[in-house]
Amino acid sequence: MRWQLSTPILAVCLMYLHFGVTWNTVVANLVGGLIFFWVDKFIFTSKIIAPQWEVAENIVCHDCEKPVFRGYRLVRAKNYDRTSAVPEFRCEKCSQIKLDKQKKKGIIS
Ligand SMILES: [Zn+2]
Repeated sequence: MRWQLSTPILAVCLMYLHFGVTWNTVVANLVGGLIFFWVDKFIFTSKIIAPQWEVAENIVCHDCEKPVFRGYRLVRAKNYDRTSAVPEFRCEKCSQIKLDKQKKKGIIS
């Protein structure tokens, strides 16, 4: 959906500018870049949109200490930020248990 938002900018530039197709496209990309740089920055840094998880392979679960192929940790969510914390990866079961506890405490919605 985000990528389709740049289509009208491209279309308008191709239809109404008179620099030739190549330069019209260059101008369209510059205009799109000036707009969507901020949109992308909001999408990738906003805590409002979606929780951000980190996945790692071949880890030892921080809680149950079992080695697992895939481990998870919640990095950021609304009112929760562990981007600079020492990573603690958990197996799927322990990750879900911790997530449920944090939701009950109201740390994560
Ligand atoms: Zn575990």
